Amino acid sequence: MSQLSWIFYHGSMNELHAHYRLLLGLDDQWQVQNVDLQMEANSVVIQLRHSGGKLCCPECQDECSRADTAPTRQWRHLDTMQFETIIEAAIPRSKCDRCGVKTIAVPWAGKHSRFTLMFEAFAIKVLQAASSVSAATKLLKVSWKTAHELMQRGVERGLQRRDTDPIETLGIDEKSFGKGQDYVSLMVDLEGSRVLEVVKDRSEASCDKLFDSLTDEQKSGIRAVAVDFWQAFRNSIVKQVPQAKIVHDHFHISQYLGEAVDLVRRRENKLLRSEGINDLTGTRQLWLYNEETLDDATQKQIEDIRQVAIKTARAWGIKEMFRDFWTYRSGAWAKKFFDRWYAWAIRSKLDPIKKVARMLKKHLAGLLAYFEYSITNAKSEAFNGRVQAIKSAARGFRNFENYRTRILFYCGALKMEPDFSH
Ligand SMILES: [Zn+2]
Repeated sequence: MSQLSWIFYHGSMNELHAHYRLLLGLDDQWQVQNVDLQMEANSVVIQLRHSGGKLCCPECQDECSRADTAPTRQWRHLDTMQFETIIEAAIPRSKCDRCGVKTIAVPWAGKHSRFTLMFEAFAIKVLQAASSVSAATKLLKVSWKTAHELMQRGVERGLQRRDTDPIETLGIDEKSFGKGQDYVSLMVDLEGSRVLEVVKDRSEASCDKLFDSLTDEQKSGIRAVAVDFWQAFRNSIVKQVPQAKIVHDHFHISQYLGEAVDLVRRRENKLLRSEGINDLTGTRQLWLYNEETLDDATQKQIEDIRQVAIKTARAWGIKEMFRDFWTYRSGAWAKKFFDRWYAWAIRSKLDPIKKVARMLKKHLAGLLAYFEYSITNAKSEAFNGRVQAIKSAARGFRNFENYRTRILFYCGALKMEPDFSH
């Protein structure tokens, strides 16, 4: 016989009431009126009753008289053993001279929630720990929509409570969203390793909106922002945090170089194929690897292809060479290296490479700023994996708010559990 059944059969009703009263953290205002074990429905319905004492206005906290009673409502609570547990109560409405008629606050649940605080707290833990949201919905026995509602409430609580401690370095980045050419922009606290905000689009206005998530003091304390070459973001950064250095980092630059190598490869592949040589086909990924991380077989493969695909090999060499740039200890030495590298890239006779080289030269100040503020979006790139997983798990979020909620829920480092101390 389970513990619960034992209580039901042998314990006194008073004990059971006291048990739930304690579990729910009820104050003197509320009593357990009835505990209804519904064996067929596999559920326990706990009916609560207001003691009838003085009411407190939920807006101004003033004591006031009772207007009437709201219709009976239910809240899902933590399961008791295998029984789904429901709280049922009719909440009195206060009549405040200033605020009018309001439904009073209850100790077991937040405003407008269909769940008790304990259930919400537990659901947040489960959603964070589960391998996927759909796994969590099965464990919690809630719908996908409800899971999102719980996440959203958690994120809202977390954002309201977020501290306004100084932040020194930010990363701002864009991500594709949905199926089309839509984008979202993200702001990341690089030291705190957390996503601060997600907004629609990648315009100057959307970047401005990202900065709205910071206080004025926080904005004036920003020393550096890691960002792509995207002009709209640069405009916003210069305007919002004029004192901050703009820093371009490894991640975006290696992305540009990687794309240039691939462009060279595709052109050369076309040429080679017309001569019946297919060595370059399907090797896109191969040229994105870093030289020292290659295994022997891949190294051999590259060696073989290099004999034929001379241009691709040259482009790859130039890309690989650039990685040395980041190894210098000072901007002055890195600058010397850059000049040599640039001369080589410009003489390469490879248009895509030359184009990236010119772009890097144009933004050299931002590249060299890296040596002063060795920050990088690599950290925000660590989120990339998680954000990517969030995106593919839901196969193209059509609803931006859900997407934002999920990113902040999983990458926002927010304190999302409800507060029980009231
Ligand atoms: Zn009031």
